[in-house]
This record gives sequence, structure tokens and C-alpha cells, in this order.
Amino acid sequence: MSTSVAPPSPHDTLPPPQNPSPSKKIKNTPQTNDDDEKKEEDSTSDSTPTTPTPTPTSDSLANLPKPAPTTTIAPTIAPKPSPVLNRCIIMFSPNYVNSLTFLGNRRGDGSRTDPTPNRLTIHGDRDILLASLLNEYLLPPLQKMGLIVPVSPKMCNLNHMLKFHKKEYLDVLQNGPTNPSDLEDYNLVDDCALPETAEGRQQLFRYLQSMAGASLHAVAMLQKFSSGVKKTTTAINWGGGRHHAKANSAGGFCYVNDAVLALHGMRQKFGKTIYVDIDIHHCDGVEEAFENDDKVVTLSFHKYDMGFFPGTGESVGKKGKVNVPLPGGVTDDMFKLVFESGLERIITAHAEHSSPFSAFCLAVGADGLYGDPIVGLDGWSLSTRGLAESVRFVSLLCKRLKMPLLILGGGGYKDVNAARTFGVCTVAACEAGREGVLSRLPDRIPDHEYFPRYGPSFSIHTDETTKGDYGSEVGRRGRRVWAGVEVRHHEDEAQRGAKRRAGSSVFDVTM
Ligand SMILES: [Zn+2]
Repeated sequence: MSTSVAPPSPHDTLPPPQNPSPSKKIKNTPQTNDDDEKKEEDSTSDSTPTTPTPTPTSDSLANLPKPAPTTTIAPTIAPKPSPVLNRCIIMFSPNYVNSLTFLGNRRGDGSRTDPTPNRLTIHGDRDILLASLLNEYLLPPLQKMGLIVPVSPKMCNLNHMLKFHKKEYLDVLQNGPTNPSDLEDYNLVDDCALPETAEGRQQLFRYLQSMAGASLHAVAMLQKFSSGVKKTTTAINWGGGRHHAKANSAGGFCYVNDAVLALHGMRQKFGKTIYVDIDIHHCDGVEEAFENDDKVVTLSFHKYDMGFFPGTGESVGKKGKVNVPLPGGVTDDMFKLVFESGLERIITAHAEHSSPFSAFCLAVGADGLYGDPIVGLDGWSLSTRGLAESVRFVSLLCKRLKMPLLILGGGGYKDVNAARTFGVCTVAACEAGREGVLSRLPDRIPDHEYFPRYGPSFSIHTDETTKGDYGSEVGRRGRRVWAGVEVRHHEDEAQRGAKRRAGSSVFDVTM
């Protein structure tokens, strides 16, 4: 069976993972901040370069992407030191967002083609909403402050995926089943249905290359810019965090486990790594992948209950894997208490009794929010403030302990609330660069393309105000999702939003 990769994509691909060459030190030539910024943007841009780009001479991920050559003219004026010592990068570009909002001739429940083909039903408009929120509201002021740099992610290829996944599984993902039992055997059914057409599978695989490539590229960027004037200590891929996929099977809307692939890279580049997962579902795919590996410690906070997906995570696993099974109804305050004390204890215990961690990976699901339509009314009662507080805590912890931090996304099935969460958490991730920036975020979402979708509160946060809005529709929408009916935004919500378009808030950059 052929294992050829998907056709050329709209964005670059990562070089193959084999035969990694020794990592190269970043040239620490004094330069202006603007020059530094320009080089990174040039080297990662989607646009066609106007000058030839040097051909990569190594297969190592660590060599991606190469900065433009530095000037040989000695500066006559000493460069101003950057006020931002802990910069964040976010894997983000129009091509990448498009690849996330693909696809498929099947609905989330596996039923046949719907009226909007080429869309993966379960993610709906989440990534489009988030992209607009970031582009038009959150990123510009953060960029102006020098706190964050958008980087256009590269795609990975089959060889990168083979670092964890089995070849026969990837064969079926790309080329379809060859035996009648293949789809069941690899769990490519229901929420992880495989498109029946070659074109559909091609689109699916391209999405997986983009999503996993972004996580791997983020790790490479963390290593590449871990020193220098504008040190990058945090990298975000909100499209990632597909923590349920196993080496030989899909599960829970996850086909390829980018978290496992990224953790392999972090373990190799930085050493002992802690993976912390605050999606409401247990990170079964990640825990299983590292169950015999004491260089990657997983710590999962999740809901555990009879019949609750995926049914694992009740107790501590092998090699010190830690699970914190929680009941339904957990609030922000409860979660903060458990999360912060649990995390501190694990970090301290490893530092005192074995060896300290060198790197941190945090997976943030938005399905712990109150009223998530997939989880239902028995889920958690978190808000954007609670999840962002966890990200802020980890950001400052990693700054204190001088650990690179990779942040991934996860579940979250009410599109506007997932967009809100990942938007607010982007700001929270910049706390390492400038403490207090999260508290400067205005509550009201300004007018932008999808403004009506955030009604009636038009708040960037989910809180008591918005609970009344979406809480009442939870049961109805949850049942509709499981019935395979695409969840669309409501016309009446849009109309209410249009009426409330009055003024817009500005994310004040003055600090
Ligand atoms: Zn989840």
C-alpha cells in the first residue's frame, strides 16, 4: 500500500526528522529589536520571499527556520535592551487557520455528507472565530508591546508522525481501508470517521500535517530562540492538543497525537518534561505513550465518572504518572486550589527527590467551561477567568523556574466560548513577558467581523452573565450535536448582537 504524503500544501513543510544534526547556537550578535523581529517574521512568512531563501543543509527540526544573515556592519550606537525578556510566539497564519477549519464528507457522528462539505463538523467555526478575535482584537496590542510574535507554522510529514504512530494506521488514514474491519480496528468511526473519498482523506491528512506540524514547529522555535536579547520562552498552538489519539487508533475527535509528537521533541531537546492537561477529559493517549518513560511525567486534571469518556485516569499510572480525577460541578475556585497546589507539589517533589523538570507542556481544553454542549450539564463549571488563571500561573511558574513552555489547545465545543477561552489564555500566556497584562484586558469585545456571535453579553469572558445565555440551551444543543446536526449560530443571536453594536472597547497598551 502506498504511503505517499499529501500533495503540496499552501505552506511549508518541516524537514524530515531522521538523522538530527547537532543543534546550532543562535547568533547572539547585538542588534536592534526591530531587526531581530524582522528576521523572524521574514523567515516564517507565508508570503513569497523576494530574495532567495537559503536551502536547509540539515534535516534537524532545530534548524527551522533560519534567520536572515545578520549585518556585518558594527553598530555605532549600542542597541537598546528589549524590555521584554520572556517573549511568546503563537502559531498562527491564514493558511493555518484554513487548514484547521477543513473538511470531510462526513459529519462528526459519521453520518454522510452534509450541506456544507469540506468542514469538520465538530470544530465548527471555533478556529475562524478565534482567528478573527486574535487578528482584530488581541494580537495587535500584544505585538506592539513586544510580548508576542505570530509565526506561520510549517507542516510535518509522514516521517514525523511515524515517531509515534504505526505505519499501518497512517496508511489507512491516507489511503482508506483495505480490509472490511480496518475502520473498526483503528477506531476510524463515529466522531473519528474517515472520509470515503480520496479527496476527503487527502484533506483530512493535510489538516493533520498542519496541526501536528505546528506543534513540532513550536518546539523547534522554543529551542531556537531560547536565548538572546528577545528570548522566547512560550509557544502556543491552539490547534493542537489532540490528546486521545493512540499509536494505532483514533479517538475522541483526535486522529494524530501532536502532544505526544511534541513531547518526544521536548524530551530530546530540553530533557525531562512535565505535561499538564486541564481538558475535562483524561489524556489517555499521552499517558499511554509515556507510561514507561520517566523523562516525561504526565499530570492530568479531569472529570472521572462512570461512563464518562474515555473511562481512564482513575488513579496514578506507571512511572509516576499522576491523575487527579475530579467530580462534575468543579468551579474556578475549586479548580485553582487543586491545580496550583497539585502542580507545586509535583514540581517540588521531582526537584527534591529525583531530578527537576527542564521543560513544560500545558494542554488547555475549553470543554471544562460551564455548559459545554458535548460534556453536558454534568461537566465542570469553569469560566474563561478560571482557565486563564491556570495559564497565568503556569506562565509565571515557568518564568521563575526558567523552563520553556509549550501551550496546546484541546476540546471545547461551544465555538464562541472556546474562542473566548483561547483568546483570553493567549493574553495570560504573556504574563511571563509582562506581569499584569491579563488584568488590562477589557471585558467588552470590540466590533469586528463576528461580533454578533458574542451576544448578548459581548464579553470576552464567560461568567455569570453569559451563563444565563448558554446554560439554558445546553441540553438542546448537546442532543443536537450527538444527533449529528451541525451546530450553527442562531440568527436571533446575530440579530440581538446587531442591535447592541455600540462603541467598542480598546485593549489599552499603555502599561
Ligand atoms: Zn476534552
